[in-house]
Amino acid sequence: MEQAGQKNILIVEDEAVLRKTLQYNLEKEGYAVETASEGYEALERFEKRSFDLILLDVMLPGLSGFELCQIIRRQDRALPIILLTARRDELDKVAGLDLGADDYVTKPFSLRELMARIRAALRRSAAMAEADTVARAEPAAAGPDAARAAAAAAGVAPVTATGAGRAGGPVLEVAGDLVLDVSRHEARIGRQALTTSRKEFDLLRLLAASSGAVVTRQLAMEKVWGYDFPGDDRTLDVHIAWLRQKLAKAGATARITTVRGVGYRLDAEAPPKDETRA
Ligand code: CA
Repeated sequence: MEQAGQKNILIVEDEAVLRKTLQYNLEKEGYAVETASEGYEALERFEKRSFDLILLDVMLPGLSGFELCQIIRRQDRALPIILLTARRDELDKVAGLDLGADDYVTKPFSLRELMARIRAALRRSAAMAEADTVARAEPAAAGPDAARAAAAAAGVAPVTATGAGRAGGPVLEVAGDLVLDVSRHEARIGRQALTTSRKEFDLLRLLAASSGAVVTRQLAMEKVWGYDFPGDDRTLDVHIAWLRQKLAKAGATARITTVRGVGYRLDAEAPPKDETRA
């Protein structure tokens, strides 16, 4: 029975034992849970009601988790989706696709870690929803202050306007030809729009705000995913891989450099010949 304020989670998993274990533990934590054992059933449930989070197995009968994730993301840009992947090579495949998932857990995983990730994802999504409401409610104040307030509400690192700093103007982060309009949550390469998921945008913004300094893995996990626990984690690398693909595809001069053992850095890399771009 669903109670007020209770979060609804959809578990999509074809392995019955794992599905039931997850359901039992999530219900014990106070979540309202629905389950589906194959892709089309999951889609039907998703279309019937709204969920606060989806736990999505990748290898499913019917529609695959890959396909489902893309379909769901097209309809709801903000809904947190955590993918359950069976193996490392599956995770590599995930990295090669633009699915728009928020997080990944590789089986076998500890329930404790999964619960922490679920809590972090729900916290972030609630903060983002609140930031959106604030931004919509105060369009007149949609300048740096409103953006900063929204960012603070979302727990995102405060960002200094390095672009057009005029009062009431857009809050911009710039790295080479990459321009991030923080108040509108839009990324551009020159004049070309760069489509990013929320997590990708937050990550790009964190990197851009560091103006060429290294962002440690720990800081990125804390700021973008709201994690407060350690762990070997490839979610960050997967998102970096997507961003690199997108930047390369858009012909960006800005580049994400791996600093081995530490984290990542965004380099502006000024265009060598065509200085008129951007
Ligand atoms: Ca499966």
